[in-house]
Order: sequence, then structure tokens, then C-alpha cells
Amino acid sequence: ARRIVIAGAGLAGLRAGEALRDGGFDGELTVIGDEPHPPYNRPPLSKQVLTGTMDPDRCRFPADRIQATWLLGTRAAALDRARRTILLHDGRQVPYDGLVIATGRRARPWPGRVPPLGVHTLRTVADSLALRRAVDPATRVAVLGAGFLGCEVAASLRTLGVATVTLIDIAPHPMPGLGPEIGARVAAMHAEHGVRLRLGTTVARFEGRRRVTALHMADGTRIPADVVLIALGSVPNTEWLAGSGLALHRGSVLCDTHCMAVGADRIAAAGDVAAWPHPRLSEPFQVEHWTNAGDMAKAAAANLLAAPAHRTPYTPVPTFWSDQYGAKIQSAGLFGHATRRTVVEDDPGSGRLVVEGDRDGELMGAVTVNRPRALIGYQRALAASPAPAA
Ligand code: FAD
Repeated sequence: ARRIVIAGAGLAGLRAGEALRDGGFDGELTVIGDEPHPPYNRPPLSKQVLTGTMDPDRCRFPADRIQATWLLGTRAAALDRARRTILLHDGRQVPYDGLVIATGRRARPWPGRVPPLGVHTLRTVADSLALRRAVDPATRVAVLGAGFLGCEVAASLRTLGVATVTLIDIAPHPMPGLGPEIGARVAAMHAEHGVRLRLGTTVARFEGRRRVTALHMADGTRIPADVVLIALGSVPNTEWLAGSGLALHRGSVLCDTHCMAVGADRIAAAGDVAAWPHPRLSEPFQVEHWTNAGDMAKAAAANLLAAPAHRTPYTPVPTFWSDQYGAKIQSAGLFGHATRRTVVEDDPGSGRLVVEGDRDGELMGAVTVNRPRALIGYQRALAASPAPAA
């Protein structure tokens, strides 16, 4: 390939560019990104940037190494595979011989009406700064969704001194994907730090014409709120691929085990936007976490440069972490696909907690709180265990 285009200037886009250069690609490289900034790191946006302990400039990744043409502040609007061209939002056309799709995801919006002021989502550095500007100690904040993002924001706002933070989820415990044992610990941490937990219920409607004033809950109660963060997961940025003929799985770009878009020999995908088959699972899966974005981008770049017969399957042990009140929660493997969970260590004094998940006796994954060494052990065990066909 003489011209490779990377669509999406996030972590996966950057790491793909680096891996292409490291892999010997010396042709033209173009990176298209719709945010005005070069690639930056998102995890601090719900943590240190929100609490004000990290300047947002420090989130920026060094990006000079990859010698690319950066087309920033402009969006890929359509993919014409017959002409091997990407049409940009501003009308320009960018031809490619090889393409890496790394357009990531964006916050899932609330499906109903929301007042125009006071309702936030968090995905970008601009979102993080807007949320921080919107709160002071007296602001009443409601966080809708107690997944990792909602939990981190609740913790950061309490750390900032915001007195009234309510964390809402329809599930009976926070971080529902990690099961009730971890959920109970996370709930206890938030309660201890003064977060009001409203679990097992959801919002019926938002109150406020111009600015949000309260949430009316499905159970008939009313939660006064000056600011609401919607943290209900994310949706893939793949609208621009409509009409391209690329296969999607729940909106994500469907790849084969080599990170190549199914049926498209010159197109790879990586990071939050991609779905691909896993030997232990019957359905394609997708990972919306930091480590995968980088690792998958490297695999995708190497396979894009390789002849089809020399491509290597991408079979990671998915991992992620979340930081809340100084506690480190980490996950390895396919914990959410376990059919049984076992608490193997529980020490509320030190805050340590280790939960293993298995499926018919086969280790699927583990989640740890404040036990990074245990997590590394599980990562090794999972990487070493043969993956039977699902
Ligand atoms: P993205 O980072 O979403 O980058 C995609 C880029 O493409 C974006 O800049 C997007 O604007 C751009 N784009 C979209 N559509 C187009 C288009 N049509 N044309 C051009 N550009 C386009 N993970 C963890 O494991 N641990 C954490 O603690 C953690 N904390 C997080 C905190 C926050 C606030 C957020 C938002 C995420 C966090 N994550 C965390 C997840 C992690 O940041 C993501 O998995 C990672 O950013 C994915 O990288 P990506 O490059 O695939 O996608």
C-alpha cells in the first residue's frame, strides 16, 4: 500500500500510525480526526482533569513520530470502497490503498427529551472541562448510570467537594457488569464518601424547560438537580460507513480474527469501534477500554501490512481498570461471561477484594480491588490457557 489513511485520531488511530511506521510502512500516511486536537488520553478526563489535579494539556500524546498528514477538525463523512476514497464532511476527498477505521464511540444520549442546559455527557476533553465549570460545592449533581464512567465521575465530584451527588442506576448495584460482589464493595465506597445511591430505579422524565431542575423517577420520587451527567454507555461512530457495504455488528465494524473488516481486504479496524470473534464466545464481541485500543491497533496495523497468508490472529486477554477514591478496580478476561463467581479474597480493612469467574470450571476472568499483583497472575493464567472453540 502506498497510501494508508487512518480514520479517527484517538488512541487506536495514533497507535495504528506508530505501528505502521514501526512495521516499515514508508508511504503516505493521513490521519483524519473530527476533534480539533491531536490524539489525547481519555482516562484522566473523569479523574484528574475533573478534580483539577491534571492540566488537560498533559493528556496529549506525543504524535510527531509518525510523520503523517493530520486532517483535524474534519469528519470522515462517507466511504466509497469502489473508488477507494473517503469523502470528508468539508467536501474534500482522500484516496487510500489501505484504511484503518478507528473512529471510536461517543456517549449514548438519553432517549427522551432533555432540557438544553445543565445536562452533560463525558467523552472529550471539552466535555470534561464543561462539566468542571458547571459545578461548585453547592451544585446538586445527579449521575445517571453507575457504570465505570458514572462511578468515577461521582467519586471525582465528591473529591472536588461537591456536596450533593446522587448516583442512579436501574441495576441493584453499581458497576453491574462486574457482578454483585464487586458491586456491593463499590456501593459501600460511594456511600462512605457521601454519595447518595439510587439503585434499582430509573428516570421517568427530566424537569426544567431551559435548565434542568430535577429528575422525576419511575418510582414516583423527585431528585432535585442543577447538573445531570448522562453516563449510560456509548454508541459506535460508524454512521459514516452507511452505504459502504461493510458489515456491522451492533453498529460496530465487524472484523475477522485478524482485525480486518469482514470481506474487505484493505480495511482494518481497531479500538472501541471494532467487534471481532473471540474463541471462547459464540458472538462477536467488543471491548471499550484503553488497553485494547492500543493492542488491537498494533495488531490491525501489522495485519494490514502483511499478505493475507501471513496475518496473525488477535486474541487478547481483555483488561481494564477504574480508579475511584484511590481504590484501583481491575478486570482481566471475559468476567462478564462467567456463569459462576467465587470470592477468593475479601479484606474490607485493606480494601482488597478478588473475585474469580468461571464457566463450567473453566476460568473466564477475574476482577480485583487493590490487588494489582493478583490481577497480573490472572492475566498470565488466562493468556496461557488454551481457548476451546465456543
Ligand atoms: P476514541 O478514543 O473514541 O477515539 C476516536 C476518535 O475518532 C475521536 O477523537 C472521535 O472524535 C474521532 N471520530 C469519530 N468519528 C469520526 C469521523 N467520522 N471522522 C473522523 N474522526 C472521527 N478505559 C480504561 O481501560 N480505563 C479507564 O480508566 C478509562 N477511563 C475513561 C474515561 C473516560 C472519560 C472515557 C471517555 C473513556 C475511558 N476509558 C477508559 C476508555 C478508553 O479511553 C477508550 O477505550 C479509548 O479512548 C478508545 O480509543 P479509540 O481510539 O478506539 O476511540
